[in-house]
Amino acid sequence: MMSDIAYIGLGSNLAEPIGQLQKALTTIHQHPNISIQYCSHLYSSAPMGPQDQPNYVNAVCKIVTSLSPMELLDVLQAIEHEHGRERKAEQWGPRTLDLDMLLFNNVSMKNERLTLPHYGMSEREFVLVPLFEISPDMIMQDGKSLAAWVSNCSLNGLKRLAEDIDYASIAA
Ligand code: ATP
Ligand code: MG
Ligand code: MG
Repeated sequence: MMSDIAYIGLGSNLAEPIGQLQKALTTIHQHPNISIQYCSHLYSSAPMGPQDQPNYVNAVCKIVTSLSPMELLDVLQAIEHEHGRERKAEQWGPRTLDLDMLLFNNVSMKNERLTLPHYGMSEREFVLVPLFEISPDMIMQDGKSLAAWVSNCSLNGLKRLAEDIDYASIAA
């Protein structure tokens, strides 16, 4: 049964980023053990780290799954790989696709491959704003509301894009 809930942050700044996100969402939804419930609008954000790279397109989706957190990570990394993601030495360099597991139920864990909740969430506007859009009543691990996290976070010029994800083609 697909009764576990997870939130995934998507990002891309190479090779038609909107198409990358659209295709990634379709692939995620096609997995027999994952179903996408909601996806946020698309956002444009300034890069973290090296500034000599294009802006990012970001979104957050809510899924239900019967996979374990480690199995879900395997699936997300396989999809990144299919999208030509190359892991380079440079941290936060440009990439075709980044799929970060933000939350998995209320699981708190840390091993060499997976930290939950995702360590960077609280200060990333391109995660918090789209997450707030799809889950406005969420309470975070420190007991504060997601709304409070959003209002404490610098927006860094985050912009909602006019284009939307094409839901029909995800569910097709
Ligand atoms: P950041 O994690 O700061 O957003 P990044 O997304 O660019 O940076 P990646 O190169 O995508 O980093 O991933 C680096 C490693 O992070 C991966 O090898 C993965 O195993 C590990 N990792 C730990 N926790 C998570 C998580 N919650 N979601 C995805 N990857 C994670
Ligand atoms: Mg990331
Ligand atoms: Mg990542």
